[in-house]
Amino acid sequence: MSSTYPYADRFPVNATMPVEGRDRAEIIAELGDLARAEDATWETGQCSGTMYCGDHDHYDFLGEVFAQYAHVNVLQRDMCPSATRFEGEIIAMTLDMLNADAVEGAKPVGMVTSGGSGSILHAVLAYREQGRQNGIGHPNMVKPETAHPAFDKAGFLLGVEIRSAPVDPQTTQVDLDALAGLIDDSTVAIVGSATNYGYGTIDQIEELAELATSRGVGLHVDGCLGGFILPWGEELGYDLPLWDFRVPGVTSISADTHKYGYGFKGTSVLAFADQELRNGQYFFVTDWTGGKYCSPGIEGSRSGGLLASTWAAMVSLGREGYIHHARGIFETSYAMQDVVRTHPELRVIGKPSFCFSFTSDELDIYHINDFLRTRGWRLNGQQYPDAIHMAVTRPQVRDGLVERFTADLSEAVVYAASGLTDPPSTGAIYGGVEGGPSDESDEFIRAVMADMMDRHQDVPARP
Ligand SMILES: *Cc1c(COP(=O)(O)O)cnc(C)c1O
Repeated sequence: MSSTYPYADRFPVNATMPVEGRDRAEIIAELGDLARAEDATWETGQCSGTMYCGDHDHYDFLGEVFAQYAHVNVLQRDMCPSATRFEGEIIAMTLDMLNADAVEGAKPVGMVTSGGSGSILHAVLAYREQGRQNGIGHPNMVKPETAHPAFDKAGFLLGVEIRSAPVDPQTTQVDLDALAGLIDDSTVAIVGSATNYGYGTIDQIEELAELATSRGVGLHVDGCLGGFILPWGEELGYDLPLWDFRVPGVTSISADTHKYGYGFKGTSVLAFADQELRNGQYFFVTDWTGGKYCSPGIEGSRSGGLLASTWAAMVSLGREGYIHHARGIFETSYAMQDVVRTHPELRVIGKPSFCFSFTSDELDIYHINDFLRTRGWRLNGQQYPDAIHMAVTRPQVRDGLVERFTADLSEAVVYAASGLTDPPSTGAIYGGVEGGPSDESDEFIRAVMADMMDRHQDVPARP
């Protein structure tokens, strides 16, 4: 695989620590080249998700803010009071956006985590600990199968069993009876998504909240993707169901500042309807030789740069800025969905909004994806059923993009319908690992993951 090691043909590979340090200007020049090459794949706007903002002026601004706080360790609050301001205000602004003032009889709070998976991990931890308080030794959580794998990962890490309820393949709505049937005395919470990643559809949050309340368990709403855009869609008058703290029974919500919040990668907000649930997952040691240790989350030391730049993203945009960008995203997404619907062979799945997926009952949808790739598109493949997915983000909001999609999709349909015998080259991948058979063994998958970290070892040393 050495031939595929990135940039091995252009630069020496650092297989050991260089003895002498390199010139800063030379490093900056080298990175500039690489970063510009990397930008090129999404700058055309033909890419699903990934780059939520895409505005280099905004990135430069965040970079300037980041630089002022990059070196600050926010674990040491006595030395960086501004981190307390940034974090507190990120949480307050997010609670405001999520209508936490509708919560009755409890004190809504939050925490800033390292991303969507980080928020989900802390939520699962909070419910596990709440369950433990109630004597639950082997906790489980119940999710629609469409909920993000970060829940399964959190379950793996924290010893919480994650049970999946089936969804209707046409509407993607979870089977509420099946989900209720998975709840037992050891269930600590159920999960709903607004929206789920795969289909961009919103689970029946009001029904799930009623169920959670009646069974005395929590309800986590995964708004990692939708949290920072659905509120603005509602203000713009789009037909969207309620899913936030206005729904009684919603006990926590994750909302990613590093997606539609347009912050740098590395932050997300986990909001709780009640302070007690959050406080229960705090970890501290009071009798350590190094002193009393307390950290507000799973991370220890954290960079002040991420808090400062996330805060700056939010206050520089404000509600008006977010609504402005949301308008373009919703309009583009609905226009692209209309384009898909002009093809009777294709079917938009469920009732999505800013993010959607589509399949075909007649054609191999991966052949469609193959063709679109030749035209520069990077949509994501999905499975059960096979489908392709488009999370519309700001890079797609531009003149001519929908027209281009219209033309390319028409050709893709003709291509897929032309009696192809070759199997498609694309499949269902999330997380950027490509290649290999579709039914990989665990060992194969481990090898592919490890290869990303280890590949340099096979690159021949150069003089
Ligand atoms: C992206 C996403 C996550 C996970 O977030 P990361 O930031 O990638 O860790 C969880 N849930 C949904 C719905 C998402 O879209």
